[in-house]
Amino acid sequence: MGAVQEDPPTMGSEVKTEEVHKPNVPSDHKWEIVWGRAVFAVLVHLAGFYGAFLFFTAAKWQTCLFTIFLHVAMAISVTAGAHRLWAHRAYKAKLPLRILLLTFFTMAFQNTLIVWARDHRAHHKYVDTDADPHNSNRGFFFSHIGWLLVRRHPEVRAHKVDLSDLFADPLLKFQNNYYVWMLPFLVVLTPIYIPTLWGEKKMVALFVCLFLRYLLTIHVFFVVNSVAHMFGTRPYDKNIQPGESKLVSFFASGEGFHNYHHAFPWDYRTAELGGYLFNTSRLFIDLMAKIGWAYDLKSVPTDMIERRVKRTGDGSHPVWGWDDPDMSAEDRKLATIINENKES
Ligand SMILES: [Zn+2]
Ligand SMILES: [Zn+2]
Repeated sequence: MGAVQEDPPTMGSEVKTEEVHKPNVPSDHKWEIVWGRAVFAVLVHLAGFYGAFLFFTAAKWQTCLFTIFLHVAMAISVTAGAHRLWAHRAYKAKLPLRILLLTFFTMAFQNTLIVWARDHRAHHKYVDTDADPHNSNRGFFFSHIGWLLVRRHPEVRAHKVDLSDLFADPLLKFQNNYYVWMLPFLVVLTPIYIPTLWGEKKMVALFVCLFLRYLLTIHVFFVVNSVAHMFGTRPYDKNIQPGESKLVSFFASGEGFHNYHHAFPWDYRTAELGGYLFNTSRLFIDLMAKIGWAYDLKSVPTDMIERRVKRTGDGSHPVWGWDDPDMSAEDRKLATIINENKES
């Protein structure tokens, strides 16, 4: 998950489906560093670290709370919005929710939503091959942040994904066309101006609410591409590299159950197990469904998951059925029981 600054998105008419580079094979492609981006990344990190210093030493408590709020809201906009709603179409959303998610997503400075979804669809379609924009076979650093600092692999450019549904969405087209005009207002001025309402210094707001917040948000999602593609169990599909990581899920709003997600990318929960604490995006989508703003939520039936676990899992799946001693009390509480017999 992440953002990139080159290649305007295309409709992707020539979709190639053949395998490009076998997964699990280290790629020896040379890095062509784009120095402008590398310098920008270094400066943003320095500014973010200074923001962390100010967070603990100079910022007002309202500013600290506001920074956490911005981070959480933008994290939800990336996970529940860009990822689950638009890239995977795992559920549908009414206009107010789409506007809300797209506004926070734009504030998060993760590129246009169509570009983000293009990279993410390519990541799923060609996972851990040279056509995957953040192929984890090119190393931890490359899959974490390095891919944003170098020229894209020719295989990434050659292999298009279908984006026609996103181009057909007027809201996304608007964001795509006017993105550059929205940046100064949404990314820079809003997080600097709002803290002045409670008397915060503009300089503190700049480093804390903008740079520190930005650093926090990008790295929380970069670990999904790096850590969750190198570590963790593979209970659903042992033939792919993404693994299950509860820790990543906790920080990345539910995106760390990555073996499950790559096995069933269209499930709005992006997970089978783990409750709301490890999947705040699912909590958000479920709440939105309650008020009618989210609908047509797709999820995988238990027997289908079980068949997949038995067919391709690595044997580490903890729960085999209801009443399994490994089943957590939280999962038991959250499970849907249809036509429940209250007397038994
Ligand atoms: Zn992945
Ligand atoms: Zn995904």
